[in-house]
Amino acid sequence: MGRVIPAITDVSDGALAAWLAERGEPKYRLKQIRRSVARSTATDWSGLTDLPLKLRAELAQSFRWSSVDLEREAASADGETRKALLRLHDGHHIETVLMPHHGARNSVCISTQAGCPMACAFCATGEMGLVRDLTAGEIVDQVRYWQRELRGREERVSHVVYMGMGEPLRNYGPVMSSVRALTDPDLFGISPRRITISTCGIVPKMDALAAEGLPITLAVSLHAADDATRARIMPVNRKWDVDEVLDASARYVERTKRRLTFEYVLLGGVNDGEEHAETVARRIAERGRTDMYHVNLIPVNPGPGGFKRPSPEKMERFARILERAGVGATVRISKGQDIAAGCGQLKVAEGKAAVPIRFDAPLPR
Ligand code: SF4
Repeated sequence: MGRVIPAITDVSDGALAAWLAERGEPKYRLKQIRRSVARSTATDWSGLTDLPLKLRAELAQSFRWSSVDLEREAASADGETRKALLRLHDGHHIETVLMPHHGARNSVCISTQAGCPMACAFCATGEMGLVRDLTAGEIVDQVRYWQRELRGREERVSHVVYMGMGEPLRNYGPVMSSVRALTDPDLFGISPRRITISTCGIVPKMDALAAEGLPITLAVSLHAADDATRARIMPVNRKWDVDEVLDASARYVERTKRRLTFEYVLLGGVNDGEEHAETVARRIAERGRTDMYHVNLIPVNPGPGGFKRPSPEKMERFARILERAGVGATVRISKGQDIAAGCGQLKVAEGKAAVPIRFDAPLPR
């Protein structure tokens, strides 16, 4: 394989400034290029018509326009939700999903790692193990991919949820660099309030995120509120147990004043009993301010572990127990078959009923 030139989104300001200086370009070009790359819906450098032709040609020789290339795309049965399998420069693959909300907004679910080291028992990505962390450019370029796809409708990406492949807080530096780019008014200009980061409960990084001073929504994958059950389905619980995760969640709420979401995948016969619901309700209530938490109940899709989906009545009963205790809960029913691979969280992003999408062929590993 020949030398791969860097993607522009992975080039530091210092390196780009030096590159421009070598060519005798004025300093303001740095900001101009950054802004154009973030905002343009062009498919390559030739579309940046605000830059001189010669500069565009030189940029194209030195930097790739994007760090991700489309391998294939699939749509849900209603054609609304779309999932893209993207190829990285070293041949690995990641997934990203576009979820339009009736013209009102466009949420994008993005991956932060190829594979995932966290090994949650019900998750296809967890089964893969960690392939590698994504760079900040590879994270941001998933948003740029959908921005280009939306250009025909003259719409923009309005919300970003970090719930794709990988555990975002295990790739903290690049994730935060991507958040800074996405929320920079001179670049993507997305409000931090419209950004959601998920975690399976990496406690020290939950505290680090709280200290960033950004009003980002945190979504914590709980999936059980007793240690025995949670450790069975989430190995991370052996490192940080339920109390530690709930305490860190309470600190996040206290510090950011943001409502926090608990994701709860319902696994028939494992974590869906009334006693499980009562434990969730009690342990959240122990932290006070139940109004600051919301529980998303997601019936499991067929996949790793062979878990079964509970009946709708059982799910409703679970939700009612939480609500009686003052904890808001929503059951999110998915409409179709499981996706062929991808994070268990990929299908539950941002207040939208999950619409799993199936690729025709197995995903490459
Ligand atoms: S559910 Fe999320 S954190 Fe758990 S293994 Fe899957 S990708 Fe990783």
